[in-house]
Amino acid sequence: MQPVTCRTCGNRVLAEKHSEAHTSIQWLTDAAHACPRIRNDTGAGHTPSWIPSCADLRDTIDDLARRGELVTNRRSHPAADLSTRSSHDRP
Ligand SMILES: [Zn+2]
Repeated sequence: MQPVTCRTCGNRVLAEKHSEAHTSIQWLTDAAHACPRIRNDTGAGHTPSWIPSCADLRDTIDDLARRGELVTNRRSHPAADLSTRSSHDRP
């Protein structure tokens, strides 16, 4: 995980990219307080049961990844493990 600061709202999170499409984001603070964009969404009356996300933060992360400043960690990708699969097949 690497610290990333949203370039729009300044919200600080930890992010890790596993592949082009798979990014883990760990919020360090309550998302609804940290990010004005998410605060607007929650203020609109619906409680976010979804994982909070900020389009600006995603842009920031994508930018960092493109410039090679956010390392893509393919080894930690939750890949299928053949040994655990075969253990399920046992009686
Ligand atoms: Zn934001």
